[in-house]
Amino acid sequence: MPAAAYRVAAVQRARKKASSLASFHDFTLNDAIKRALADEKYLTPTPIQAQTIPIVMSGRDLIGIAQTGTGKTAAFALPILHRLAASPRLTARKSCRILVLSPTRELSGQILDSFRTYGRHLRVRAALAIGGVAMGTQVRTLLNGVDVLVATPGRLLDLVKSDALRLGEVECLVLDEADRMLDMGFIHDLRKIVAKLPVQRQTLMFSATMPRAIAELAAHMLRDPIKVAVAPVASTVDRVEQRIIRTDRAGKPAMLIDVLRRETIDRALIFARTKHGADKIARGLIRAGIDAAAIHGNKSQNQRERVLGAFRKGEVRTLVATDIAARGIDVDGISHVVNFDLPNVPETYVHRIGRTARAGAEGVAISLCDHEEVAFLRDIEKLIRMTIPASDGRANQRSALSPASAFAKPAVNAKRRRKDRTGPARKQSRHGRPNEAPRGIDSVAFIHRTARLERDHAPRGQGLAGHSKGT
Ligand code: AMP
Repeated sequence: MPAAAYRVAAVQRARKKASSLASFHDFTLNDAIKRALADEKYLTPTPIQAQTIPIVMSGRDLIGIAQTGTGKTAAFALPILHRLAASPRLTARKSCRILVLSPTRELSGQILDSFRTYGRHLRVRAALAIGGVAMGTQVRTLLNGVDVLVATPGRLLDLVKSDALRLGEVECLVLDEADRMLDMGFIHDLRKIVAKLPVQRQTLMFSATMPRAIAELAAHMLRDPIKVAVAPVASTVDRVEQRIIRTDRAGKPAMLIDVLRRETIDRALIFARTKHGADKIARGLIRAGIDAAAIHGNKSQNQRERVLGAFRKGEVRTLVATDIAARGIDVDGISHVVNFDLPNVPETYVHRIGRTARAGAEGVAISLCDHEEVAFLRDIEKLIRMTIPASDGRANQRSALSPASAFAKPAVNAKRRRKDRTGPARKQSRHGRPNEAPRGIDSVAFIHRTARLERDHAPRGQGLAGHSKGT
């Protein structure tokens, strides 16, 4: 079969497989990784994961067009961890087997977090090499070699120049947010780094967009790659009809009932901030004669599956969920998303409303906003670069009021709650646990993180590497 036809066939096979994937169990991922996914309560692969994981496991090069928020980190981290677990070997001194390049210190820290989370039941040595912190600790960490090195290009080259790191053992290179790396002027650094890598390697490139410069970079660095793409978050937002209903906190339950009675609903997903809140809303709806169920982390796996099954089949048309529980909900045909509470992290709003308008469909997202949530609303509008039309709660009847400005005086509490977000809430890792130290800020953070990593993956019997590495 000619190479091009072979490639098309491979992509079609991967897509076909991806479209029929319902669970992580459909992949032949190492059990320890599956356990970590269960710990994280990941039930279903996201579209980029479903498409990417089998391709990476097959050893092919890949270009993934996907934005942050699509689950792309796990899309490469999971098959890479699987590879490390499947072929344990002693890493050479001053070397790494997997090199992940990202444009910023923050993103690098998040990627390291993901490797640590998904690899928590494996013995994988992962480390960070980012600028802005002293090199000494990074040099010492690299002395014995690491399995995974997550780095920003500038610091990586500094480490190579000072002979703290050699790149001749790299088996797999990941370029994350390639378009941003180009925007930030890393192109020459990237070329220098790639020139030092073995020709025999797997290369994975992720980028939110595919401008010509990225295509050229890919042509230079990747070998016969398979291209996968998922819809950018923004295009989903554009397809959703969004409305804000201003109300006070006490009026929200009645307003919700009103909305659900007035709208023509196929399936509605209602978001609540807390598990307790989700239960309370569901109970209130049932009392009002609206069939509803709640899904959240306190429910057993069985209960969750039962409720989801009923929602999928249309037996229950209204599902109340927390953000965490909703991550695993893979249901088409959600006509309405209702934010009973507005999220304090604006990106969460985008993820929530993306539950409707799937697969090219259109959907409606209605948010109940009380006085204390006006600051959240402003942040959301800034992120999505639009003013969400205000509605008086009656279907398709919008008022001309500008939502955020319509509240004469934002309550003091709103400011306080927004401030809280930059405090403890912002310090949550993407996996919902508090970060033990700010990422990439100082060398102490690096030592701490690395030390914890090594402790977390301390040798246990015949594990991944089959040998004990010094700390
Ligand atoms: P990313 O696009 O890699 O930044 O991931 C976005 C968020 O989605 C992160 O908070 C991940 O923890 C979460 N996530 C990734 N994959 C899944 C999944 N299959 N199920 C639920 N959450 C996920």
